[in-house]
Amino acid sequence: MAAGSQPGDEGTSPIGPVDGRVVPRFAGSANFARLPGIGEVPAFDVAVLGVPFDAGTSYRPGARFGPLAVRQASRLVRGYHPDLDVQPFAAVQMVDAGDVPCTPFSITEALGQIEDAARALTGDGGALVAIGGDHTIALPLLRAAASRHGPVALVHFDAHLDTWDTYFGAPYTHGTPFRRAWEEELLRADRCAHVGTRAPLYDPSDLTDDDRMRFFRYSTMDVAEQGVRSIAASLRSRVGDAPVYVSIDIDVLDPAHAPGTGTPEPGGLSTRELRALLAGLDGVDVIGADVVEVAPAYDHAEITSLAGAAVAYDSLALLAKSRVRRVARHLEGGPRRSERHR
Ligand code: MN
Ligand code: MN
Repeated sequence: MAAGSQPGDEGTSPIGPVDGRVVPRFAGSANFARLPGIGEVPAFDVAVLGVPFDAGTSYRPGARFGPLAVRQASRLVRGYHPDLDVQPFAAVQMVDAGDVPCTPFSITEALGQIEDAARALTGDGGALVAIGGDHTIALPLLRAAASRHGPVALVHFDAHLDTWDTYFGAPYTHGTPFRRAWEEELLRADRCAHVGTRAPLYDPSDLTDDDRMRFFRYSTMDVAEQGVRSIAASLRSRVGDAPVYVSIDIDVLDPAHAPGTGTPEPGGLSTRELRALLAGLDGVDVIGADVVEVAPAYDHAEITSLAGAAVAYDSLALLAKSRVRRVARHLEGGPRRSERHR
């Protein structure tokens, strides 16, 4: 039964992806994981949303082509996630909601367009996994998430802090979304963490500023020395039972694992470590996620976009489990109500 189904709906199953045993994976649908489009289902629980915006980029541009590349690389995604023991496309109704049509010529206007699109898709209870785009897009996505859930816990995978104040005087860039989110009180104090940080900084005060915003940092070396199980356990206890937003900057990976990105930083996580950390978030209440900074022009053999598709799938699996738990809680405790919507 789909999460959020009404009692009378029993027996209706989510409409899943195009079957790879019927239509070859290299043919047909270009949706993420070959999911149905948003217009092909009566209601949905979780939508994949492309956000092709990269005007907040400070170094190599090109993440505007991220959604296209990640969707292409997602053709080989299959329906059962063994590490999380879930069939996300069967557990809840998932769709591809297409791309936000956002202007490349005005950052503030684009932020409004992204927030409006996210609010429209989540206002009645849906959840999103957004595919960027540069990291600027996390701010409007967090605004939309907080409008529904209140301030959220944040698990932020990135080589960089992204809590800088301004760049060339600009307040909205891909290096500043979490400073703005903290200022706007979209985040739960003491429930937020950066994972995989390692990039050189402008000044030691970058770290004290970050401390002042009460972010916790797990550096790439912390992951290397303590191991993914220990870091994941620490992350779970840090976020507790808060609603959790997961933001994945693909540059958290070493350039060997993600060459196709705008600000590559040598010495990063492996794709395996990142996926193990994500699987280690099993049990936390994930309410939304993004995968950003895939810039396919610098990629080789789809290394980066395949990693992006894989961690987007991991995020969908976490969301499916969280939503099934939420519905079970509703059925146990409170009045039955649908979380499904159009
Ligand atoms: Mn970032
Ligand atoms: Mn980064």
